Amino acid sequence: MKLVTFTHNGRTAIGAVVHDQIVDLSRLAPDMQALIELGAEGLAAAQKTITAAGQTIPLTAVHLLAPIPIPRRNVICLGLNYSEHVKESYGARGQEAKLPETPVVFTKATTAVNGPTDPIPYNPAVTTQLDWEVELAVIVGRAGKNIPAAAAMSHIYGYTVLNDISARDLQMAGKQYFKGKSLDGACPMGPWIVTADELPDPHNLRLICRLNGVIKQDGRTDIMIFNIPATIAYLSLGMTLLPGDIIATGTPDGVGFARTPPEFLQPGDVLESEIEGIGVMRNPVIGER
Ligand code: ZN
Repeated sequence: MKLVTFTHNGRTAIGAVVHDQIVDLSRLAPDMQALIELGAEGLAAAQKTITAAGQTIPLTAVHLLAPIPIPRRNVICLGLNYSEHVKESYGARGQEAKLPETPVVFTKATTAVNGPTDPIPYNPAVTTQLDWEVELAVIVGRAGKNIPAAAAMSHIYGYTVLNDISARDLQMAGKQYFKGKSLDGACPMGPWIVTADELPDPHNLRLICRLNGVIKQDGRTDIMIFNIPATIAYLSLGMTLLPGDIIATGTPDGVGFARTPPEFLQPGDVLESEIEGIGVMRNPVIGER
């Protein structure tokens, strides 16, 4: 199932996308977080609603929001989780690459979350080094603590595309990534959550990031350093994961700051983030003061 949060005629609701039409699921739950918390029962009820659906709304008639527009806590992110990206990141600073032995974890503020077609704000008084990072994001379904890797996949609700937009000047200046990763609009997500049953092998997907139609990143999820079960096992060790938690699993190589010369987002740019089997986001970069 492809699950969306959308606005239509001034109303915000959740739905399922079926052949470019949206089946309204707002009878089942007030928002995506609540639907996720209903677990398998909620998905079964959604399937019934789809089967019985009379009236649908064309996808083109709605505005899609991030599938979880206001997560209840920060988006959890893995840094340096693709070896070629590790090499380019160290290389850009003239250093020799060291692969991480433990996952590099940071978070993005909930207020950074952005829709799949919404503008990414650009304000040169804040940053002049806005960069892209296309990533596969895992949506946690069932809560868990100390989840063994062998059981990790059963805790996953679904997957979405996420771009971990990063203000490199702010990120590198501080001792923590948080501020540089958390500007408003710096976490486009979507266009929908694809439920886990429809993506049985999330470690075999192509991820692509295009800037103004030119491919900048083109990787595959099979080369993650810490795969999804290892990541969930690590994160949940002594720390409860909750339904609706979002885990961005890292980006492949091809980011802007590591290019020669470095490249950063500019007003007027269009950033496309695509993952095979999920979909495409298309975010314009818009100047603001
Ligand atoms: Zn990232």
